[in-house]
Amino acid sequence: MSVVIVGGGWSGLAAAITLTDHGIPVHVVESTKQLGGRARNVSWQDKVIDNGQHVMIGAYDHMLALMSLIDIDHSKLFKRYPIDITIVDDIFTPLHISAKGGWPWPLSLAWNVFRSAGLSAVVQLVRLQRDIPKLLANDDMSVANWLHKTRQSQRLIKQLWEPLCLATLNTPIANASAHVLAHVLKDSLGQHQTAADLLIPQQPLGTLFPQPAATFLTKNGGKITLRCRVKELINDNGQIKGIITNDGNTYLANHVIIATGPSQCADLLSPMLAMTQPDQLPICTVYLQYGQEVRLPAPMLGLSGTHSQWIFDRSLQHPGLMAVVISGPGQHENRSKQALIECVSAEIHQLIPSLPAQAQSACVIREKRATFASTIAYQQQRPTHKTSTRGLWLAGDFVANNYPATLEGAIRNGEKCAHAILAEIS
Ligand SMILES: Cc1cc2nc3c(=O)[nH]c(=O)nc-3n(C[C@H](O)[C@H](O)[C@H](O)COP(=O)(O)OP(=O)(O)OC[C@H]3O[C@@H](n4cnc5c(N)ncnc54)[C@H](O)[C@@H]3O)c2cc1C
Repeated sequence: MSVVIVGGGWSGLAAAITLTDHGIPVHVVESTKQLGGRARNVSWQDKVIDNGQHVMIGAYDHMLALMSLIDIDHSKLFKRYPIDITIVDDIFTPLHISAKGGWPWPLSLAWNVFRSAGLSAVVQLVRLQRDIPKLLANDDMSVANWLHKTRQSQRLIKQLWEPLCLATLNTPIANASAHVLAHVLKDSLGQHQTAADLLIPQQPLGTLFPQPAATFLTKNGGKITLRCRVKELINDNGQIKGIITNDGNTYLANHVIIATGPSQCADLLSPMLAMTQPDQLPICTVYLQYGQEVRLPAPMLGLSGTHSQWIFDRSLQHPGLMAVVISGPGQHENRSKQALIECVSAEIHQLIPSLPAQAQSACVIREKRATFASTIAYQQQRPTHKTSTRGLWLAGDFVANNYPATLEGAIRNGEKCAHAILAEIS
């Protein structure tokens, strides 16, 4: 029994680890020079940073369990912080989404919203939360329509829902699927308090999971080939028998898992299988290196009414380093890198005066196809793991599940795909 996995992102690696753990040898073929895909290491000056700031939370239980399986001690790898986010606005007073205050969860959350935005904001949040079962039992709608239906105020829409929807679905509220947002809210804020914990990594993304995953796979009989693009699948009368790479090599296999991004997957499968291509949306991260003593008052802060949406203190890895995130499409895409650095630095200094007006150095990383757009239409068209072609399977964050494009969704899909193969061969 042999399995080839096309793509060494977090989903392909999750599939590879799951199969290896069940004694099935795998061969991971990755087109770039490193594993990790959209969550990988990047070198900048003398530092190793992430290709883009990622938020991980306590609800990422499959990610944490998979890390444990390959002997990663995630209690040492992440610093856990109970949720404590302040969203600073250019007009309204700061809004606190926090577990602080000594009340049991979720009363602590309600208490902090009450103190920062009044009773009516709490009533609106409870109304929306109570509507989740009804929403999920009926046809999907846009997040904007759901917010309107549950009578959220202009303030909450601007200061909470727009930034939260972009941060989690990377999709503006006008187009975003309310079902997907409701699942995210249910699994993060609607459970026990630790599900909402922020997990702040002490290492860059590639070192966090892809590198130990590679060690686990090679130690357990797996093979990894980097810098090798798969250009074609070997299709023998409706049965996939292996792959052909762009350097002319052929690798035979009983099963092939495509664990690439959605557009690369559609290209590889065409014309054998037709796949709906989702819109893909950008995420831009601006890294600002201040003096080593500079810190944010919390691990992350939200900003609304500005280009900058979230700022993260990365001092655990590089003292004084801040990562500013701008998710989704917008005017920032037309600005030069230098203009964006100047704009973001000025915005941040104005809203958080403890940060200097100018950073010592800065860099901008734009990921143009960071995630698929979590729209109503795409949520209904996401493909399944099993295809109609024998021996051909799909993994990757875009395969059908309740999550938007996230590390947790990618890992769940990788595992689920591996289990579907295991069930078929058992
Ligand atoms: C800037 C940014 C910020 C993000 N923020 C968050 C966040 O805060 N929280 C969160 O949970 N998620 C976040 N995400 C999303 C998360 O990174 C992705 O959902 C996840 O990494 C997708 O993993 P994947 O394995 O499905 O796909 P990918 O990471 O895209 O992996 C696919 C791999 O396949 C390889 N490949 C493609 N074609 C071929 C081929 N023909 N042959 C061989 N190899 C091929 C690619 O090189 C790639 O390595 C963010 C993403 C970005 C880019």
